[in-house]
Amino acid sequence: MQSPAEYADIAENLALVRAEIELARLRGAHSAAAVRLLAVSKTVEAPRVACAWGCGVDALAENKVQELLDKQGQLPPEARWHFIGHLQTNKVRQVFDKVELIHSLDSLRLAAEIEKRAAAAERVVHCLIEVNVAAEESKFGLSPAEVWDMLVELAGMPHIAVDGLMTVAPDAPAEEVRPVFAELRKLRNEMRARAEKNSFSNISMQELSMGMSNDYRIAVEEGATMVRVGSSIFGGRIYR
Ligand SMILES: *Cc1c(COP(=O)(O)O)cnc(C)c1O
Repeated sequence: MQSPAEYADIAENLALVRAEIELARLRGAHSAAAVRLLAVSKTVEAPRVACAWGCGVDALAENKVQELLDKQGQLPPEARWHFIGHLQTNKVRQVFDKVELIHSLDSLRLAAEIEKRAAAAERVVHCLIEVNVAAEESKFGLSPAEVWDMLVELAGMPHIAVDGLMTVAPDAPAEEVRPVFAELRKLRNEMRARAEKNSFSNISMQELSMGMSNDYRIAVEEGATMVRVGSSIFGGRIYR
């Protein structure tokens, strides 16, 4: 471990982000009782990721399977990991039992593969359904209108627990994305009510994963239960 001073930026950034989350939570009309802070560690070297974990984030989040596995091997075994990127079915086997939550369930085919692997391993895999609220061409995720049919299918997959919904908002000024977050919250509420009515016991629909560095404050005001923050914790990313 290098000298603590080398990592002082991470500790400071985290304290600031935590404070901003709490302020947003207190002022928001729709905010959740608690918000988990996920440190998005993609492209960040393991020692800096370890520092964030040591400073007390709720989980670390990666969007590529190989990078997640590499970094997992370099961090304390008790570190918790989430998978937030598009997941190819042929990579499910490598990752389904290595993460606490998969945020990016975006097709029936992927769900079927997760169910198959989880059943064989006799475990339950926790997932969020990714929703492309703004219908952007470049993004993965179901349209809001497709979510209910997906839930009906998932109700027959007992080794998948659907904890809620996730979205990646458009890259736009923060105030412009507020309606996107509000729509995801309303969709979560409606889907939760319908799932309850239908006694879908593996579908709890409590969670809302939304908000990144430039818009997490607004996401929290609109009800996020977890925010995925990268550059505001680790500094700007350098893509290789
Ligand atoms: C990279 C990424 C984030 C974090 O982005 P920042 O702008 O660095 O906070 C959040 N969610 C997903 C899905 C990502 O790929």
